[in-house]
Amino acid sequence: MNFNNVPGMGMTSARTRTRMIDRLKSQGITHPEVLTIMGEVPRHAFVDEAISHKAYDDMSLPIGHGQTISQPYIVARMTELALGAPQRDKVLEIGTGCGYQTTVLAQFFKTVYSIERIGGLAKQARERLSTLGVLNTRLRHGDGSRGLPDSGPFDVIMLTAAAPIVPEAMIAQLKPGGRMIFPVGGDTQELRMIEITPEGPVEQRLERVKFVPLLPGMA
Ligand code: SAH
Repeated sequence: MNFNNVPGMGMTSARTRTRMIDRLKSQGITHPEVLTIMGEVPRHAFVDEAISHKAYDDMSLPIGHGQTISQPYIVARMTELALGAPQRDKVLEIGTGCGYQTTVLAQFFKTVYSIERIGGLAKQARERLSTLGVLNTRLRHGDGSRGLPDSGPFDVIMLTAAAPIVPEAMIAQLKPGGRMIFPVGGDTQELRMIEITPEGPVEQRLERVKFVPLLPGMA
């Protein structure tokens, strides 16, 4: 997809983006396609104009309703893990937020399903993705804490909010070889991945992270 005609594009210089990509490399991101796409998706279009000058910095930023857009490193890291799945057909994201991770995933997967519990954010993300011309997404306002059984099975399930305990119920919504990438915990959180191998689900513990919590119900 070509994002070159996104309004405000000139606002963020090529240099700012190159700096972000160099930083991602120094943080251990190696996947060439991930680095290319992270340089192309206009991150500043996903945050409020007042803070858009910070959009390419290495930090999470507020997106309203007490929620945040994840820092570039974690988006890149989780996307790299997602691309390790054997197919790029269907991915489910739980926690659409501003729709940035959704847009990054949409550059790789045929269809991105994404669910958001806060109505205001879901509506805003829908409008933003439509303006940006990101069309291979199915956005839903709802509680994703049990996944999206009707639309599965998925190649990848990615949680962008921290589950209090391992969301076991979603494992059944993965294809063979599929991957669930999720933060788990409360004050202390860990990024984990469960992969469906021929021997069954195998869990890997990856790194310490800090996400907003996965909450039940709709808002
Ligand atoms: N992927 C987002 C990250 C947003 S923060 C981005 O790129 O901006 C995580 C989001 O998960 C928040 O918007 C929060 O409202 C949402 N969330 C938390 N619990 C949820 C649930 N049970 N179902 C759906 N969304 C949830």
